[in-house]
Amino acid sequence: MERLALRTPFELVRTSCFAYACRRCSRCCSGKRIPLDPYEVARIAEQLGLRTTETLERYTTNGGALLAVREEGECVFLGATGCAIHPARPLACRLYPLGRRVTPADEERFAAVVPDPGCEGDTGGAGTVQDYLEQQQAEPFVVAADRYRAVLEKLVAALLERDDLAECAQEVNDLLARAPTAQDESLLDVDVVVGRRCAELGVPVPGDLEARIVLHLEALEAIASA
Ligand code: SF4
Ligand code: SF4
Repeated sequence: MERLALRTPFELVRTSCFAYACRRCSRCCSGKRIPLDPYEVARIAEQLGLRTTETLERYTTNGGALLAVREEGECVFLGATGCAIHPARPLACRLYPLGRRVTPADEERFAAVVPDPGCEGDTGGAGTVQDYLEQQQAEPFVVAADRYRAVLEKLVAALLERDDLAECAQEVNDLLARAPTAQDESLLDVDVVVGRRCAELGVPVPGDLEARIVLHLEALEAIASA
């Protein structure tokens, strides 16, 4: 997997000038590591009409943290006519050729990356980073990414406070990178975790994805605070 070269440093903010028109040639859908958070997995699951458990098993690697790729390195969702899950594509795909980071001081920064060779997109035109985020309908993904990053940092911090560091490292591994199977459930599996939480609370599982994500985050928060 190649490392993306930067066209600008991570210094852009939402009001910075940036414009990009993607031509959906799919050249950027190979040779990448596309990160996933539970919201992105749930969006893909909803698009495919699957449970998150099955989506994690079939379409992700690294315990659900990365989108799977085929042997040749192309994304598992790349089809003959382009992205097979375009309305539910992950944040990294929406932002490309823009990258996003949150600094330790909680400041959001963006960088323009060098597009793939042969990319048919157009970098001309006027606009801002914010305009581009809106065109890509990226905001719900950005909000979810920040909420999951915050709760996962809490989980790791809670574990690191313990004396038994060897066991702690194993638990971090178990919590964040456990392969989801019927016998060995992953905390990143929204449907499983939310199903269990709703059973505990004696309430029905909500049909609305955003409501399920709130319950999932609450469940992770409860573990971090235990
Ligand atoms: S390579 Fe460029 S034009 Fe082609 S799909 Fe990717 S971003 Fe769009
Ligand atoms: S999810 Fe879609 S847009 Fe993203 S890399 Fe895969 S095929 Fe390309």
